[in-house]
Amino acid sequence: MEKPQVTIVVPAYNEEGNLNQLMERLLPVMRGMGKPFEIIFTDDGSRDRTLSMLKEMTLKIPELRVIEFNGNFGQHMAILAAFERSRGEIVVTLDADLQNPPEEIPRLVAEVEKGHDVVGTIRLKRQDSVFRKAASKVVNVTTNKMTGMKMSDYGCMLRAYHRTVIDNINHCQETTTFIPALAQTFAANPTEIEVSHAERSAGDSKYSLYRLIRLNFDLMTGFSVVPLQLFALMGVFTSLVSAGFGVFLMVRRFVIGAEVEGVFTLFAILFFFIGIVIFGIGLVGEYVGRIYQEVRKRPRYVVRRVHGMAENEVAS
Ligand code: UDP
Ligand code: MG
Repeated sequence: MEKPQVTIVVPAYNEEGNLNQLMERLLPVMRGMGKPFEIIFTDDGSRDRTLSMLKEMTLKIPELRVIEFNGNFGQHMAILAAFERSRGEIVVTLDADLQNPPEEIPRLVAEVEKGHDVVGTIRLKRQDSVFRKAASKVVNVTTNKMTGMKMSDYGCMLRAYHRTVIDNINHCQETTTFIPALAQTFAANPTEIEVSHAERSAGDSKYSLYRLIRLNFDLMTGFSVVPLQLFALMGVFTSLVSAGFGVFLMVRRFVIGAEVEGVFTLFAILFFFIGIVIFGIGLVGEYVGRIYQEVRKRPRYVVRRVHGMAENEVAS
């Protein structure tokens, strides 16, 4: 078979309800583009029929390969595993739940062909809960501020990358990551286009509130040490203010006399600062935890097998 020019990467975790429809829409789009292509699915330890459905599809679709994970390692690891096995000059990532319409792929590919090495996307009329949309706004603004990157929508995974960026990503061995941000650090000529967005076609979101918080912590602490620096600055600022306050109290003692009331005000102020200190310890812990994960050097994910196109591996 010809070397593929375009690789489509899809992570899937318990997506049995979406796979048939996704394939029915994705294949005509890819065939219609008239370029050799491959589709790589990663089954991220699904407990439903996702894997068996995908395996069956490989028998009928020669362009399809399926990476079978040994457990649930998360969406970003699933994408990285597919990146490592991708061969296309252009690599497009896509969610399996049809929230990203496959019909947008040719537009993304065209942008890469124009010379952009990363094509980001902005979800027009995003179809998610009000809470998710509001949280994303906060994340997008603070991440841009902290990392100095400029991206409008970190969460949208319908994105296209040029081979050079994929090769750079493949050289990174970090155990927790956030792919759009990682790609952005290697982008020389990124662009963003607007794409449509749909509601999840079947099943529920695979992200619980806790996993969302974890993911966004990875994004914040994985790409910047600004949170730590802000903390140090805040410490300097509070000590300066309290030193000034101490001087004021001393002068006041000589002029008016000692103060007595306001014990509970003091408590309130104290608890506020104790809260900040605990937050700071937690923040430092986040970074220490990340360092710990990195130094253990455990495999980031375990591949049990690769199905399709007569390629089989045991584990890597
Ligand atoms: N996903 C995955 N592993 C996980 C969680 C999610 O491979 O542990 C996949 C999921 O199957 C989907 C994509 O990542 O293709 C996005 O997940 P989801 O739609 O649940 O996220 P949301 O749209 O709610 O942000
Ligand atoms: Mg989704």
